[in-house]
Amino acid sequence: MEITRCEAIPLASAVEGVEMAFGSGDREVGVQPVLVRVHTDTDHIGLGETLTYDASGAEGEAVARMISVLGADLVGRDPREPTAAWESLYVDVKRSNAWKALSALDEALWDLTGKAAGEPLYRLLGGKTNNVAAYATFPRRQSTDALVDAGAWLAETFESMKITVGADVERDRERIRAVAAGLPDGFGLSVDANTSYSVSEALRVGRAGEEVALEWFEEPVAHTDIEGQAELNRRLDVPIAAYQSHAPHYPVVGHLRAGALEVYQPSAYLCGGVTGTRRVAELVDGFEKQLVPHAFGPLVNYAATLHVAAASPACDLIEFAVYDDSVEDPGEYVASPYVAGDPVRVENGVITPPAAPGIGVELDEAAVERLRLD
Ligand SMILES: [Mg+2]
Repeated sequence: MEITRCEAIPLASAVEGVEMAFGSGDREVGVQPVLVRVHTDTDHIGLGETLTYDASGAEGEAVARMISVLGADLVGRDPREPTAAWESLYVDVKRSNAWKALSALDEALWDLTGKAAGEPLYRLLGGKTNNVAAYATFPRRQSTDALVDAGAWLAETFESMKITVGADVERDRERIRAVAAGLPDGFGLSVDANTSYSVSEALRVGRAGEEVALEWFEEPVAHTDIEGQAELNRRLDVPIAAYQSHAPHYPVVGHLRAGALEVYQPSAYLCGGVTGTRRVAELVDGFEKQLVPHAFGPLVNYAATLHVAAASPACDLIEFAVYDDSVEDPGEYVASPYVAGDPVRVENGVITPPAAPGIGVELDEAAVERLRLD
């Protein structure tokens, strides 16, 4: 099998206009997919995906152009050798910082490897090790009462929820106590500061988190501050989580040596696709830390992440973003109208990877044509 062409397709956001909390400020964002189709000299086409939060589409178009540039280097290669292709792309990417482009291309090569073998990707990665539960990220800036209400209905589907903090230390301490007190028994709570505190501020917020046994405290300080994260991880009983902002797996080594994190959260769309995320999973497993991937919709990337999660003994939990509080069926939250059928489902809190070969996601071609921006 030989690669003949790499086609990048930036798509319109399906969730344009969601107001999300980023540290101390709110931002109107979209979740804009950039698909990649890797064509071969067979009937098989490999699917991969990355995403941006820029609802204007400009960032997605830039990533698509970078995919086309990097993808030209793959023509003539056998797609069933994604690891060798990854090493070659890595040399290009570390000089240009085009992690998202490498990630989408890598996913598509693994998709092709699975399709050629007639096996779902998780099986090529060693098979399932755990049931993977979904936790709900509720990124909307809401009042404490609204978050408590959300917890009541989210608890019907998910085992825990995550809320954003990072605006004001005293207000955040009160908010953590009040939301935790209002949630159903046994329903977990974690918080995400999106890198917005200093170490001393994070300590004060983390102390309030200890009182209510938070599941984890995510990105409390700058993601590059390994020592600061390690200090918080030593001094707080609440586990420190991060890694969604890193690429690829190499920075994990410094975090593990410093004891910086208990929970590692690579983003497959940034961290180097299936190859990069799997390498994070294996390093983390060796140190008996937890893998809880950062995983928003859209669905091709989500499903690719889910295959790595299901095959990793370090992972039994994955993120699931809930943008809309009026949706009846949790499957609708993934918000990928260009995907055919319903390949990823949350049932009784457990989320399973698609069983079809490769990543196991098929496109609705008419929807792709309707939504494409290029
Ligand atoms: Mg986060």
